Amino acid sequence: MFRALLDIVFPPLCHACRAFIPGAGRLHLCPACRGEITPIVSPLCTICGVPFLTPGGIDHPCGPCIISHPRYSAARAALPFDGVTRDLIHHFKYDRKVHLAHPLALLAAEALTPSVASWDADLLLPVPLHRRRLRERGFNQAVLLGKPLAKLWGIPLVVNNLRRTRWTEPQVTLAAGERELNVRGAFALVDPAAVKGRRILLVDDVYTTGSTVMECSKVLRKGGAAEIYVVTVARAVAG
Ligand SMILES: [Zn+2]
Ligand SMILES: [Zn+2]
Repeated sequence: MFRALLDIVFPPLCHACRAFIPGAGRLHLCPACRGEITPIVSPLCTICGVPFLTPGGIDHPCGPCIISHPRYSAARAALPFDGVTRDLIHHFKYDRKVHLAHPLALLAAEALTPSVASWDADLLLPVPLHRRRLRERGFNQAVLLGKPLAKLWGIPLVVNNLRRTRWTEPQVTLAAGERELNVRGAFALVDPAAVKGRRILLVDDVYTTGSTVMECSKVLRKGGAAEIYVVTVARAVAG
Protein backbone atom coordinates (compact mmCIF):
# COMPACT_ATOMS: atom_id res chain seq x y z
CA MET A 1 0.00 0.00 0.00
CA PHE A 2 2.70 2.45 1.04
CA ARG A 3 4.80 1.39 -1.94
CA ALA A 4 1.83 1.90 -4.28
CA LEU A 5 1.26 5.36 -2.84
CA LEU A 6 4.91 6.25 -3.30
CA ASP A 7 4.68 5.14 -6.93
CA ILE A 8 1.89 7.66 -7.47
CA VAL A 9 3.66 10.54 -5.77
CA PHE A 10 7.15 9.70 -7.08
CA PRO A 11 6.58 7.45 -10.11
CA PRO A 12 9.70 5.30 -10.56
CA LEU A 13 11.12 6.16 -13.97
CA CYS A 14 13.89 4.42 -15.85
CA HIS A 15 17.11 6.44 -15.44
CA ALA A 16 17.90 5.96 -19.11
CA CYS A 17 14.62 6.22 -21.09
CA ARG A 18 12.27 7.70 -18.45
CA ALA A 19 9.74 4.87 -18.92
CA PHE A 20 7.51 4.22 -15.92
CA ILE A 21 8.69 1.09 -14.14
CA PRO A 22 6.67 -0.26 -11.24
CA GLY A 23 8.99 -2.21 -8.95
CA ALA A 24 12.03 -0.41 -10.30
CA GLY A 25 14.54 -2.37 -8.25
CA ARG A 26 17.82 -0.96 -7.01
CA LEU A 27 19.05 0.12 -10.44
CA HIS A 28 15.95 2.02 -11.57
CA LEU A 29 16.39 0.80 -15.12
CA CYS A 30 13.60 -0.67 -17.23
CA PRO A 31 14.12 -4.25 -18.48
CA ALA A 32 14.84 -3.03 -22.03
CA CYS A 33 17.58 -0.59 -20.95
CA ARG A 34 18.97 -3.02 -18.40
CA GLY A 35 19.13 -5.66 -21.14
CA GLU A 36 21.25 -3.39 -23.30
CA ILE A 37 23.91 -3.07 -20.62
CA THR A 38 26.22 -6.05 -20.89
CA PRO A 39 29.52 -6.23 -19.03
CA ILE A 40 32.96 -6.55 -20.59
CA VAL A 41 33.91 -10.22 -20.41
CA SER A 42 36.86 -12.47 -21.22
CA PRO A 43 38.86 -12.84 -23.30
CA LEU A 44 40.63 -9.64 -22.34
CA CYS A 45 44.13 -8.31 -21.68
CA THR A 46 45.28 -9.43 -18.22
CA ILE A 47 47.00 -6.06 -17.76
CA CYS A 48 45.00 -3.19 -19.29
CA GLY A 49 41.73 -5.12 -19.51
CA VAL A 50 41.03 -4.35 -23.18
CA PRO A 51 38.53 -6.92 -24.46
CA PHE A 52 39.63 -9.00 -27.44
CA LEU A 53 37.21 -9.02 -30.34
CA THR A 54 37.39 -12.75 -31.07
CA PRO A 55 35.22 -14.66 -28.62
CA GLY A 56 36.53 -17.74 -26.87
CA GLY A 57 40.22 -18.01 -26.09
CA ILE A 58 41.92 -17.13 -22.85
CA ASP A 59 43.01 -13.88 -21.24
CA HIS A 60 46.55 -12.80 -22.06
CA PRO A 61 48.55 -9.56 -22.23
CA CYS A 62 47.76 -7.49 -25.34
CA GLY A 63 50.45 -6.36 -27.77
CA PRO A 64 50.83 -2.77 -26.48
CA CYS A 65 51.07 -3.98 -22.86
CA ILE A 66 53.81 -6.49 -23.82
CA ILE A 67 55.79 -3.78 -25.61
CA SER A 68 55.40 -1.31 -22.78
CA HIS A 69 53.84 -2.39 -19.47
CA PRO A 70 51.53 0.35 -18.16
CA ARG A 71 52.58 2.02 -14.93
CA TYR A 72 49.61 0.48 -13.16
CA SER A 73 49.53 -3.20 -12.26
CA ALA A 74 46.16 -3.94 -13.85
CA ALA A 75 43.03 -2.14 -15.03
CA ARG A 76 39.48 -3.35 -15.46
CA ALA A 77 36.30 -1.67 -16.64
CA ALA A 78 32.78 -2.94 -16.03
CA LEU A 79 31.01 -1.88 -19.22
CA PRO A 80 31.71 -0.81 -22.79
CA PHE A 81 31.30 2.97 -23.10
CA ASP A 82 28.39 2.95 -25.53
CA GLY A 83 24.59 2.96 -25.77
CA VAL A 84 22.71 3.22 -22.50
CA THR A 85 25.93 3.27 -20.44
CA ARG A 86 27.25 6.29 -22.33
CA ASP A 87 23.88 8.06 -21.94
CA LEU A 88 23.85 7.42 -18.19
CA ILE A 89 27.43 8.65 -17.74
CA HIS A 90 26.74 11.77 -19.81
CA HIS A 91 23.62 12.57 -17.76
CA PHE A 92 25.60 11.95 -14.59
CA LYS A 93 28.57 14.15 -15.50
CA TYR A 94 27.24 16.87 -17.74
CA ASP A 95 23.59 17.18 -16.69
CA ARG A 96 24.54 17.00 -13.00
CA LYS A 97 22.34 13.96 -12.33
CA VAL A 98 24.42 13.07 -9.30
CA HIS A 99 21.93 10.44 -8.13
CA LEU A 100 23.12 8.32 -11.07
CA ALA A 101 26.34 7.63 -9.16
CA HIS A 102 24.43 4.96 -7.25
CA PRO A 103 23.20 2.78 -10.14
CA LEU A 104 26.51 3.27 -11.97
CA ALA A 105 28.45 2.14 -8.90
CA LEU A 106 26.17 -0.89 -8.55
CA LEU A 107 26.70 -1.82 -12.20
CA ALA A 108 30.46 -1.41 -11.73
CA ALA A 109 30.47 -3.51 -8.58
CA GLU A 110 28.47 -6.27 -10.25
CA ALA A 111 31.17 -6.74 -12.87
CA LEU A 112 34.32 -5.78 -10.98
CA THR A 113 33.97 -7.28 -7.51
CA PRO A 114 35.81 -10.55 -8.34
CA SER A 115 38.86 -8.65 -9.68
CA VAL A 116 38.84 -6.20 -6.80
CA ALA A 117 38.58 -9.03 -4.27
CA SER A 118 41.61 -10.74 -5.81
CA TRP A 119 43.70 -7.55 -5.64
CA ASP A 120 43.14 -6.97 -1.93
CA ALA A 121 43.78 -3.20 -2.14
CA ASP A 122 44.54 -1.13 0.99
CA LEU A 123 43.25 2.26 -0.16
CA LEU A 124 40.74 3.51 -2.71
CA LEU A 125 41.65 6.79 -4.44
CA PRO A 126 39.27 8.49 -6.88
CA VAL A 127 41.00 10.31 -9.75
CA PRO A 128 41.01 13.97 -8.64
CA LEU A 129 39.67 16.97 -10.52
CA HIS A 130 41.41 20.32 -10.66
CA ARG A 131 39.75 22.68 -8.21
CA ARG A 132 38.66 24.96 -11.05
CA ARG A 133 36.84 22.06 -12.76
CA LEU A 134 35.40 21.03 -9.40
CA ARG A 135 33.98 24.55 -9.03
CA GLU A 136 32.54 24.46 -12.55
CA ARG A 137 30.96 21.01 -12.23
CA GLY A 138 30.12 21.16 -8.56
CA PHE A 139 31.22 17.59 -7.88
CA ASN A 140 33.90 15.07 -8.73
CA GLN A 141 32.26 12.13 -10.49
CA ALA A 142 35.08 9.78 -9.44
CA VAL A 143 34.52 10.65 -5.77
CA LEU A 144 30.76 10.12 -6.08
CA LEU A 145 31.42 6.69 -7.60
CA GLY A 146 34.25 5.93 -5.19
CA LYS A 147 32.16 6.48 -2.06
CA PRO A 148 29.64 3.65 -2.58
CA LEU A 149 32.34 1.40 -4.06
CA ALA A 150 34.64 1.91 -1.06
CA LYS A 151 31.73 0.99 1.21
CA LEU A 152 30.75 -2.08 -0.83
CA TRP A 153 34.32 -3.33 -1.04
CA GLY A 154 35.34 -2.34 2.47
CA ILE A 155 38.35 -0.31 1.31
CA PRO A 156 39.15 3.04 2.99
CA LEU A 157 38.43 6.00 0.69
CA VAL A 158 41.15 8.66 0.46
CA VAL A 159 40.20 11.87 -1.35
CA ASN A 160 42.72 14.45 -0.19
CA ASN A 161 46.08 12.91 -1.00
CA LEU A 162 46.26 12.65 -4.78
CA ARG A 163 45.76 16.14 -6.21
CA ARG A 164 45.48 17.60 -9.68
CA THR A 165 47.91 20.47 -9.44
CA ARG A 166 47.80 21.79 -12.98
CA TRP A 167 44.82 22.84 -15.09
CA THR A 168 44.38 20.61 -18.14
CA GLU A 169 42.07 20.82 -21.11
CA PRO A 170 39.20 18.27 -20.98
CA GLN A 171 40.58 14.99 -22.37
CA VAL A 172 37.38 14.49 -24.41
CA THR A 173 38.33 17.44 -26.61
CA LEU A 174 41.71 15.94 -27.53
CA ALA A 175 42.97 13.30 -29.93
CA ALA A 176 44.50 10.14 -28.47
CA GLY A 177 48.07 11.32 -29.11
CA GLU A 178 47.54 14.65 -27.34
CA ARG A 179 46.04 13.22 -24.17
CA GLU A 180 49.26 11.92 -22.68
CA LEU A 181 50.98 15.27 -23.06
CA ASN A 182 47.94 17.13 -21.75
CA VAL A 183 48.00 15.41 -18.35
CA ARG A 184 51.78 15.10 -17.99
CA GLY A 185 52.87 16.42 -14.59
CA ALA A 186 49.28 17.30 -13.69
CA PHE A 187 49.13 15.23 -10.48
CA ALA A 188 50.93 15.22 -7.14
CA LEU A 189 50.68 13.55 -3.75
CA VAL A 190 50.15 15.72 -0.68
CA ASP A 191 51.43 12.93 1.56
CA PRO A 192 53.54 10.35 -0.34
CA ALA A 193 54.30 8.44 2.90
CA ALA A 194 50.62 7.44 3.11
CA VAL A 195 50.84 5.41 -0.11
CA LYS A 196 54.29 3.92 0.46
CA GLY A 197 54.14 0.12 0.35
CA ARG A 198 50.34 0.20 -0.05
CA ARG A 199 48.18 -1.40 -2.71
CA ILE A 200 46.17 1.38 -4.31
CA LEU A 201 42.85 1.10 -6.11
CA LEU A 202 42.28 4.06 -8.44
CA VAL A 203 38.68 4.77 -9.44
CA ASP A 204 37.45 6.80 -12.43
CA ASP A 205 34.32 6.93 -14.54
CA VAL A 206 35.67 6.20 -18.03
CA TYR A 207 38.90 4.69 -19.36
CA THR A 208 39.61 6.05 -22.81
CA THR A 209 43.31 5.98 -23.68
CA GLY A 210 44.35 5.43 -20.06
CA SER A 211 46.51 8.61 -20.08
CA THR A 212 44.94 10.02 -16.92
CA VAL A 213 45.27 6.88 -14.77
CA MET A 214 48.74 6.27 -16.23
CA GLU A 215 49.84 9.71 -15.07
CA CYS A 216 48.28 9.15 -11.62
CA SER A 217 50.08 5.80 -11.46
CA LYS A 218 53.42 7.48 -12.22
CA VAL A 219 52.98 9.73 -9.20
CA LEU A 220 51.83 6.85 -6.98
CA ARG A 221 54.82 4.71 -8.04
CA LYS A 222 57.14 7.58 -7.25
CA GLY A 223 55.51 7.75 -3.84
CA GLY A 224 56.37 4.09 -3.33
CA ALA A 225 52.95 2.46 -3.84
CA ALA A 226 53.40 -1.32 -3.99
CA GLU A 227 50.65 -1.98 -6.53
CA ILE A 228 48.27 0.25 -8.46
CA TYR A 229 44.99 -1.16 -9.72
CA VAL A 230 42.49 0.79 -11.79
CA VAL A 231 38.74 0.34 -12.04
CA THR A 232 36.37 2.36 -14.18
CA VAL A 233 32.66 2.05 -14.79
CA ALA A 234 33.19 2.11 -18.54
CA ARG A 235 35.84 1.77 -21.17
CA ALA A 236 35.97 3.05 -24.73
CA VAL A 237 36.15 0.01 -26.96
CA ALA A 238 36.83 -0.26 -30.68
CA GLY A 239 34.07 -1.38 -33.04
ZN1 LIG B 1 14.63 2.37 -19.93
ZN1 LIG C 1 46.74 -4.58 -22.52
